[in-house]
Amino acid sequence: MLATRAYEMKLSEENLIERIRRRIPSAEGGALQMGIGDDAAVLRAPAGADWVVTCDPFLEDVHFLTGAHPPEVVGYKALARATSDLAAMGARPEVFLLSLAIPANRTGRWLDGMLSGMARAARTFGLRLAGGDTSQPSGRNPKIALNITVIGTARRGCVLRRSGAQAGDAIFVSGQLGAAQLGLELILRGLHRQARWKDLLAPQFYPAPALQLGRWLARRGVASAAMDISDGLSTDLHRLCQASGAGARIYAEKLPCVAVPGGLASLGLEALAMALHGGEDYGLLFTVPKRLAARIPRRVVGTRLTRVGEIIRERGVVLVGADGKRAPLQPRGWDHFAKI
Ligand SMILES: [Mg+2]
Repeated sequence: MLATRAYEMKLSEENLIERIRRRIPSAEGGALQMGIGDDAAVLRAPAGADWVVTCDPFLEDVHFLTGAHPPEVVGYKALARATSDLAAMGARPEVFLLSLAIPANRTGRWLDGMLSGMARAARTFGLRLAGGDTSQPSGRNPKIALNITVIGTARRGCVLRRSGAQAGDAIFVSGQLGAAQLGLELILRGLHRQARWKDLLAPQFYPAPALQLGRWLARRGVASAAMDISDGLSTDLHRLCQASGAGARIYAEKLPCVAVPGGLASLGLEALAMALHGGEDYGLLFTVPKRLAARIPRRVVGTRLTRVGEIIRERGVVLVGADGKRAPLQPRGWDHFAKI
């Protein structure tokens, strides 16, 4: 009996893997010498390249809400989040591995939707699926869990790091800050079902890793430090400063804050607070030596770049308000461990 059940589960796992393989780009080519179908994948880096590797969990009720995030969004966003860390290093995405825990009652339409979103993200970022595994969580209320490992390449010794910022360097951010948080605020208030706010959900649903900007910075060698803004500027800037052994001063008036439409005024959402502490924007935060800062254009491949402050010798982050008053800026962005 047990053996039969194990055999049936094995069959259904093979069926799942076949469905995943058919939907997501997984053909051998590029860095992928041998893909799905053997016991392990075989990768080959181009001459003069380093591997750049990162992994990222995407968990139901922690990182996404099944009532608010459609399955296409879950698939797209899970891969986009993981790939953003390659953008932050200035690497080119090559392959990814998917470890999927999915309850039996979600392997129908939900899985199909998730795979179509993930396939779209893979094509957009130039990723091939190299392998992975599936499992079926049991228990009274089993949850979906995606764990994604993304592997990229970078020219040998040419990755961007968090640790090189020095006093006097100019601080830049890419894109807009707080836009993903605004989408989340709509979800938390149940307003995401109203068609009029649909456009405001896009940054929350379909984040765009700054892949081209990251590679542009790595190629030019102009950035003294860089990272992606995944957990909110206040938290990530502290991390960059810590890695660099320095501090930072930023100016509230210079931040490219999300615009809150007049129709949402009654919610009392503060654009500045969302820009400082909202997570999931996945733009880049980077520093440039002062003498090179004037050479940074206002846009790179369509992405807006904004100079928001400077690195200082004293530790900690200082926010200069619109009135010129200075106050310490605490890291109040998203922190997974704070939620446990
Ligand atoms: Mg990161």
